[in-house]
Amino acid sequence: MANHERNIWEKIADQLRSKSLWMLHYCTGCGAIELPPSMTSRFDMERFGMGPMATPRQADILFITGYLSAKTLRRVIYTYEQMPEPKYVIGFGSCTLNGGIYYDSYATINRLDYYIPVDLYIAGCMPRPEALLEAFNELMKMIRKGEANGWKQYKENYDWYKNNQIRSLGEVLVHDEFHE
Ligand code: SF4
Repeated sequence: MANHERNIWEKIADQLRSKSLWMLHYCTGCGAIELPPSMTSRFDMERFGMGPMATPRQADILFITGYLSAKTLRRVIYTYEQMPEPKYVIGFGSCTLNGGIYYDSYATINRLDYYIPVDLYIAGCMPRPEALLEAFNELMKMIRKGEANGWKQYKENYDWYKNNQIRSLGEVLVHDEFHE
């Protein structure tokens, strides 16, 4: 997507925003086991201004830690649509990127970015905490440069995302703001 030209206030807001990010971790797969060491004293993600958040309505990042069954995907979509903008998605582990070892399973999806926009993928099975912290730093850089725009893409290409969701899940509730 073409980069939107930000005004000075948006640039300042993005600078500040990149240093205070709250993350909702949606632990769908085995990669979730790498989160505790990333959050606690060994790797300590709070030194970057990042912390865990318990509710989507106050979260900036939706962090998805692995394979997604059709049932889980529906909850992930509803969770994403409850988050306030700007919002960012990280797909953790190969399962979010291409299905990983479950690529031919009847019960799981292969590409998360067909259903919601993913700003950053972390490949691997499972990625180590070092990769996770590297990805956080990369996302912070993208936010500062105005390049983490998945949430805008979701609105601009809403029909495409919604068609993919419906094709895999049947009916999917629609968030009110998209009807306005
Ligand atoms: S990428 Fe590997 S560690 Fe992550 S959910 Fe898939 S199988 Fe599990």
